[in-house]
Amino acid sequence: MQIGVPRESAAGETRVAVTPETAKKLVAQGHALLIESGAGVSASAIDEAYVAAGAQIVDRAAALGAELVLKVKSPNAEELGLMKSGAALVGMLNPFDRPGLEALAGAGLTSFALEAAPRTTRAQSMDVLSSQANIAGYKAVMIAADKYQRFFPMLMTAAGTVKAARVVVLGVGVAGLQAIATAKRLGAVIEASDVRPSVKEQVESLGAKFIDVSYDTEEEKEAAQGSGGYAKPMPPSWLERQKVEVAKRVAQADIVITTALIPGRAAPVLVTEEMVKSMKPGSVIVDIAAPAGGNCPLTEAGTTVVKHGVTLVGETNLAALVAADASALYARNVLDFLKLVLPKDGGFQVPMDDDIVAACLMTQGGTVKRS
Ligand code: NAD
Repeated sequence: MQIGVPRESAAGETRVAVTPETAKKLVAQGHALLIESGAGVSASAIDEAYVAAGAQIVDRAAALGAELVLKVKSPNAEELGLMKSGAALVGMLNPFDRPGLEALAGAGLTSFALEAAPRTTRAQSMDVLSSQANIAGYKAVMIAADKYQRFFPMLMTAAGTVKAARVVVLGVGVAGLQAIATAKRLGAVIEASDVRPSVKEQVESLGAKFIDVSYDTEEEKEAAQGSGGYAKPMPPSWLERQKVEVAKRVAQADIVITTALIPGRAAPVLVTEEMVKSMKPGSVIVDIAAPAGGNCPLTEAGTTVVKHGVTLVGETNLAALVAADASALYARNVLDFLKLVLPKDGGFQVPMDDDIVAACLMTQGGTVKRS
């Protein structure tokens, strides 16, 4: 099958859906790999490396005109115009973007959004949310360390003692756990909060302290279980108690990393303007939830601002700032998903009895499949 890989066109998107490593594997499976010239250059994958892997370097129209197109982000209007009706598309297509999905259906594409894969053991190797959130958690701490005008570790020097940085992580999914692990490696003292009590053990195993908030009613206990591993909106009574506990920690924190997300909804506000005012000058907040509205109302998506003496980082594509490894992991996720739709005997199939394929299928035959 002809597989096309265009250069990503979204602003700040440095990742690529196929690396020379995965290109080699797809070529070995008998596919013709059409890589747009320069597609991997921002991720340190040069054209020559793709050629060495057996791929062909082509122009934009040829890459987008392939039978199967592999992308990072959903195609824009220009890209859709170059794609063939009846072609297949695999990428991070944003399952909650209804107009975007309608545009894919309108273009006659059979499309798969990898973010929609279930959080099951079998789907782990193609879990793009995890592979990219892991990188975001790491990079958030790297950025915080860069913006913070003090040390992370405790130091005892001839010129006196330097205190360890206090880090608060709000939301302990994949990104939050990596943020804790990274901050720990740098020597910080860390506290973390999540709505799901099940993460307490994970937080403690990384050497951080869990901010306990009691679950007093049946409604609170039920909501805390979430659904499918994801958080559900918590009752206001619980959020109020969480706010009091979080406010105390944030006031003492040097760094706050927020990652709290609820799929398909605006991110919950966890750090209010009052809390920001209570922080020491020079403190840093990295709001990983910035693309979903942010966990702090003072965050400005896509930029870094200083408010009340606190630096707020609203970077919306942290994974793209670690382009080579983000691409390497994403490309392996894509390769694993392709095993489900590209059988060894050739052709392209959509096995709807496969729960991963069924969950990821967004559009087919001109209609949006997602309810
Ligand atoms: P996410 O990015 O959707 O959300 C980040 C975190 O924010 C979550 O832990 C969520 O509980 C938390 N959160 C939401 N509202 C909050 C609030 N008001 N206060 C504090 N925290 C809040 O999460 P994710 O990283 O995608 O992980 C979601 C779940 O899926 C986790 O349980 C994770 O362990 C699980 N998971 C399972 C698999 C698998 O089994 N294959 C793979 C990856 C992740």
